[in-house]
Amino acid sequence: MAASGRPEVRAFVGLGANLGDAAQTLRSALDSLGRVAGVRLYRSSSLYRTSPVGASGPDFVNAVAEVVTTLTAPALLSALQAIESAAGRERPYRNAPRTLDLDLLLYGSARIDSAHLTVPHPRMHERAFVLVPLAEIAPERVPGDALARVQAQAVERLDPT
Ligand code: ADP
Ligand code: MG
Repeated sequence: MAASGRPEVRAFVGLGANLGDAAQTLRSALDSLGRVAGVRLYRSSSLYRTSPVGASGPDFVNAVAEVVTTLTAPALLSALQAIESAAGRERPYRNAPRTLDLDLLLYGSARIDSAHLTVPHPRMHERAFVLVPLAEIAPERVPGDALARVQAQAVERLDPT
């Protein structure tokens, strides 16, 4: 139990950016995430350069972070969206190139299916840019055959965060 009285939950956040200095955007998003009240940044993956999947524009930089949080899943999603907004994200159309995209991948072992939030993230198992960094920090959270199924997607490891 944390000081707030709410249990601590381990959650995984997927980060992606493909406009401007994407690596710097991700580093500062990780920093912002660790400063959210009720969120502790536990560890983060390397940064990876990936080709756009179902999106247009330049290559993405992606990473996955593990946090320990006393926030509820919807409150954590709101915090992620506030960080996206602060990074100047605009949504002119679906899958548009974005300054910063933050997805809640896993929240403990919870299964959530509400209008605004689906956890585990419904497309995470199709995406090498999620599975490869997730496997780097938490291989036990990646099903055995999942990586093999996305190995055709190019993912190149960059510098440590
Ligand atoms: P994507 O991340 O799939 O490229 P968007 O970031 O544009 O697409 O989608 C954001 C919307 O997805 C938000 O309105 C949010 O409510 C919804 N959403 C549902 N589940 C999740 C989740 N697990 N993580 C982040 N956003 C989610
Ligand atoms: Mg998103």
